[in-house]
Amino acid sequence: MTRRRSCILTYHSLDDSGSVISTPPAVFREQMEWLATEGVPVVPLDRIRDTPGAIAITFDDGFRNFFHEALPVLVEHRFPATVFIVGEFCGGCNDWPSQPSEHHIPKLELMSWQEVEQSAKAGAGIGCHTATHPFLSSLSPVALDNELHRSQSQIEQRIGRAVDTFAYPYGDAPPHVRKAAGRYFRLAVSTTLDFLKPGSDALNLPRLDAYYLRSRLWFRGLYTGYGTAYMSLRRGLRGVRQMV
Ligand SMILES: [Zn+2]
Repeated sequence: MTRRRSCILTYHSLDDSGSVISTPPAVFREQMEWLATEGVPVVPLDRIRDTPGAIAITFDDGFRNFFHEALPVLVEHRFPATVFIVGEFCGGCNDWPSQPSEHHIPKLELMSWQEVEQSAKAGAGIGCHTATHPFLSSLSPVALDNELHRSQSQIEQRIGRAVDTFAYPYGDAPPHVRKAAGRYFRLAVSTTLDFLKPGSDALNLPRLDAYYLRSRLWFRGLYTGYGTAYMSLRRGLRGVRQMV
């Protein structure tokens, strides 16, 4: 057993479609039960960098199934989690213009503002995932700033509290995008597949995508040398497979 490292888990949708953004609800429940049984510290995102051996849980896009499938399980275990919301698409579907057609991403409903508000009241952290889910590096400086600022204000007005965490759509975070995010947010997460390291950039925190951890063995291997070897392998494969 090597020294336990901290990591941030990324989930998107909890459904049984088998798509690259989907984790079956039963698998999610089992994973959370395992974390609880093992006594793995599950901490809010803003504490992950200073809690060795801890896990932070994040959900991208704000799917409605977060509210129905994930939230009750999180509440039951008293696990904190952060869900990243796409401001302009709340109450709609994940059919933003940048959605790639070649990855067979299912069209799924997103939480309404009322569900976002109820999630916040139930203890979920609410983070920002832009207004329209664009590739941020493709935007002009003005449009980039607008995507960040507009969505942050919109979410803050709805939930009545500060929103200081951000997730880059598609992990698209070159230096100028990170700098812009830093004007509005304290922490930002990427799709770089890795454990946290001492000195990880607060505006470019790596995460481990639940897609790669669906099997019981690999999820439990998060804290073993076996798991580390597996994640290295997946990083190698990552180059040939673009995630969402
Ligand atoms: Zn997204």
